[in-house]
Formats: sequence, structure tokens, C-alpha cells
Amino acid sequence: MPGLFDGTRFQRPVTCEVCEKPMAECQCPRDASGTVLLPNQQTAVIRMEKRPGGKVVTVAEGLDPKASDMEGLLKKLKVRCAAGGTVEKGRMEVQGDHRQVVGEVLRGEGYRVKVR
Ligand SMILES: [Zn+2]
Repeated sequence: MPGLFDGTRFQRPVTCEVCEKPMAECQCPRDASGTVLLPNQQTAVIRMEKRPGGKVVTVAEGLDPKASDMEGLLKKLKVRCAAGGTVEKGRMEVQGDHRQVVGEVLRGEGYRVKVR
């Protein structure tokens, strides 16, 4: 029961320190260690990669895979770029050179962005 041990050495914070909601209702993104990691504390590095055969992909990396909804972000990127893409090894890839659009979308989601 929250507050049961208030004032004793068993007291635990029962509200999130960021959104100040009860922990059970907190939706703040957290990394693997349980630390709150908001989009504006993360930097996506966006660059283009050439693949054998001359294809290019836009790569966005550097986001925390647990504190970020990579699959959800990729869906938005695919719609905005009208291109296919995947999430692989903690990075997002979109087919073609869409660095500017990928940067805009991620910035719109609150992330810091570096376009290479
Ligand atoms: Zn929270």
C-alpha cells in the first residue's frame, strides 16, 4: 500500500520524479536500468549508407532501444518517406535517402537530431 512505510527507512518514492504521477500510471520512457530517458535526452544520428548494388538506406541510430518505441517510430518514418524500412540491431533503416524527412519526423517526436 503506498505510503504505508512513510517516514520509516522503508519509505519509497511512490510518484514518478518526472511526471509526478503514481508509479503505476507513469508512462515515462525508461532505459534498461529503469532510469527515465525522455526523447529530448536522446540524440538520433542520421546518415546515409550505401549498400552493395548501389542501393542507399537512411540510418537513424543512437536512440535507446528500451526507452524508445522504435517500431512505432519506424512506422511513422515509413509513412512519411513512403518507403520500406526495418528496425535492426537497435537502429532504424529506411530505404532511400530520406535524411531530411527522417530528421524532421524524429525532431517532431521530441528527439535531438544530428544529420550527417
Ligand atoms: Zn513518469
